[in-house]
Amino acid sequence: MKKALLAASLILTSTCVSPVYSHCGTCVARACPDACSIERPALNEDVEAALNAQLKLELESSYLYLGMSTYFSQKGLGGFAHWFKLQSEEEYDHAMKVYNFMLDRGVTIHLPDLAGPKFDYSSPIHAVEVGLAHEIHVSQTIKDIYGLAQDAREYDTAEFVLWFLKEQVEEENLFEGILTKLRMLENAHPAALLFLDYEMAQRAAASGGCGC
Ligand code: MG
Repeated sequence: MKKALLAASLILTSTCVSPVYSHCGTCVARACPDACSIERPALNEDVEAALNAQLKLELESSYLYLGMSTYFSQKGLGGFAHWFKLQSEEEYDHAMKVYNFMLDRGVTIHLPDLAGPKFDYSSPIHAVEVGLAHEIHVSQTIKDIYGLAQDAREYDTAEFVLWFLKEQVEEENLFEGILTKLRMLENAHPAALLFLDYEMAQRAAASGGCGC
């Protein structure tokens, strides 16, 4: 009987070993004391900051391509304008994908101020070059988040950004393809651009979006 009481006493006063209770100091019957509430482990600070920065960047991407859509529309290139409007919508979906993950993961969200996009490009080639450079930059920030998350053992975040890593390969390839065709037409009759504009008009809206 004495042994049983001693064992019970050890359980009632033993130090918490579970991370969710460790801040409580001492366990009471393996439950959290009244004065102490259960908290989810916070996300690593650097990873949290990087996710907030990525949310801003995806929103900026959406705004950037809306600006390009405006530019092409004003140039009379409706096919390009259509393509970039859909691209803007796709980037907003990317932002919401990050936003929803941050909400689910309990990350503090800082909705950013966004500067107005430029749409005073010197030529269609210039606009698409800016787009390609932007996508290359986005690819790097995604890789940086993946590395940060791995180093901080935030494996859920690392797994989350894998989708974006694959998506960026597609995005860079798309912009590079458009740029290649535009450069082919650089010395052709200006009307030749209308053939490419027709092709750009065929882009269909993504079915089902990103699932966010
Ligand atoms: Mg994106």
